[in-house]
Amino acid sequence: MPEQPDSKDRYEPLRPQHSGLREALAPVAGFGVTFSSMFRPTVTEQYPRQKVPTKPRYHGRHQLNRYADGLEKCIGCELCAWACPADAIYVEGADNADLPEGEHMSPGERYGRVYQINYLRCIFCGLCIEACPTRALTMTNEYELAGPTREGLIWEKEDLLAPLQQGMLAAPHPMVPGTTDTEYYRGEVTGPADEQVAWVREHRPDDETLPPEPTGPAPGVRRAEHVARGNRSGKAAR
Ligand code: SF4
Ligand code: SF4
Repeated sequence: MPEQPDSKDRYEPLRPQHSGLREALAPVAGFGVTFSSMFRPTVTEQYPRQKVPTKPRYHGRHQLNRYADGLEKCIGCELCAWACPADAIYVEGADNADLPEGEHMSPGERYGRVYQINYLRCIFCGLCIEACPTRALTMTNEYELAGPTREGLIWEKEDLLAPLQQGMLAAPHPMVPGTTDTEYYRGEVTGPADEQVAWVREHRPDDETLPPEPTGPAPGVRRAEHVARGNRSGKAAR
């Protein structure tokens, strides 16, 4: 006959034992939580059918910004790469002086020739954008970064560059005449100068970012017409 366990070794349930109606309802008591939740507001987001905007400071994919005339803000200093705890950024800088005569990718001496972010490694901590001295690197609210291949999640400079806004000229082109990188950093350059437009028109006449050529008559001709109309209506031309 098997040996009976000692009374002190017997299983003692931690839950207090009830009897009667309370014991009978115990298996369905958990549904009380379900019923009480049914009358609370729904917090489930129906992604991807419904996309809820993120908070404004959400850390999404990165963006390499430009100045108002289209030159790139990145100077290829690699500080972002050094700050990255996941080793997700690769930068190679180069000298603007090594570009053909007059061309600049960014104001000042250097620009980012190669720029890659490996989104298989990035943890979206934002340390890289804190380290950037020119605010070239910021983070957008874009969070849909899945992809079918590993290679596709290594984003190149072309993928990260901010789109050219209305009025910007695609780099490379000269800096605004008479400025240094300091004026650019201070935000004193508010758009392309006529000299920059003329330079791009001469070197890349088919550039899509060029503004349309002025088609109206020259200012002198316009004034002459105005004078003629004034004479027809009997007004004295001054
Ligand atoms: S967000 Fe963080 S992990 Fe991602 S590239 Fe920047 S520093 Fe590296
Ligand atoms: S993004 Fe900023 S920190 Fe990184 S290389 Fe360019 S200028 Fe330097």
